[in-house]
Amino acid sequence: MINHLKIIEILNRFDKENIKIGSIGSHTALQILKGAKDEGFETLVICKQASAGVYERFRVADDVVLVEDFSEILGKDLQDKLIKENVILIPHGSFVEYVGARNIEEKLGVPLFGNRKTLEWESDRKREKEWFNEADVRMPLEFKSPREIDRLSMVKFPGAKGGKGYFLAKNEKEFYQKYKKEDGEYTIQEYITGTRFYPHYFYSPISEQVELLGMDIRYESNIDGLARIPPQVLDDCPIEPSYTVTGNLPVVARESLLPEILKMGDRMVESSKKLFPPGMTGPFCIETICTENLKFFAFEISARIVAGTNLFVRGSPYSQLLYDEPMSTGRRTAREIKIAIEKDMLDRVVY
Ligand code: AMP
Repeated sequence: MINHLKIIEILNRFDKENIKIGSIGSHTALQILKGAKDEGFETLVICKQASAGVYERFRVADDVVLVEDFSEILGKDLQDKLIKENVILIPHGSFVEYVGARNIEEKLGVPLFGNRKTLEWESDRKREKEWFNEADVRMPLEFKSPREIDRLSMVKFPGAKGGKGYFLAKNEKEFYQKYKKEDGEYTIQEYITGTRFYPHYFYSPISEQVELLGMDIRYESNIDGLARIPPQVLDDCPIEPSYTVTGNLPVVARESLLPEILKMGDRMVESSKKLFPPGMTGPFCIETICTENLKFFAFEISARIVAGTNLFVRGSPYSQLLYDEPMSTGRRTAREIKIAIEKDMLDRVVY
């Protein structure tokens, strides 16, 4: 684990008037960099040649650093350059996927927004389960072996592959009809029928408050397309459902569901403080399904900015209640860094 004291030492040498916000060019980088610029920071993007034009054309990057492979960020040369330029990096889903949670924790010595330990907890299903249990947030039932499957269940594979390769099975026989050895390690979860809500929260260790900044539903292929085929046609031509994320739709929840949604966010923050002190910092998202009895089941937590926040570059119906200005999750992150600089509390948000 990169030592926090070492990061604080680096931060102490930073020119606080000229801090740059940087990220890897993918996922939510446009929003992160736009938010940083709106808060008055200079920005830097690390990207591959093919996507450099995106960041230039949307005018969000002051500096573009080209790499052939994102793992170059773990090399000494690039890290030295980033530190010399007073860069604070913002992690996102593709950042974690391409560089690897372990590598970020152990080899990335550049100041990073948020507690590094969080990445380890959110990317490991066992720990994630422990976290939900500690927070007393309801999860779908889990079956330890295919033999135990006694209802419609979803078979999931590790990593943030966006639902790719998941399948459904009602019993052990169906499981083995669909499972291939090369699929490797899996988790079997009871399938919850209901409506999905993916609330975007932001926890500020400075104000010690959890803010609800937005909410989305993932658009998934082919399951969301299957709903458009009438059942009588589907009967003649069965198609195996799949859950590959292809986009995001904005959503607002019934107002009477908000107490439960807010409570889930608060509890995940509180339990994170117990499990991996000082706990979670900044943006996170709980993936939930609400049943017809209005019970929420949470099946995953992303403890960093999620792609669904890209819907709200100018804010969401929720962020508009909190802020009288466009407030994306990217901008809120930059705002937290700005407040931390002003209050001399960077060590509370950067690790
Ligand atoms: P995940 O990779 O865990 O985010 O899951 C990908 C997608 O699978 C989700 O966005 C949901 O549409 C669906 N899903 C995941 N877990 C469940 C579950 N227990 N019951 C029903 N649908 C689920």
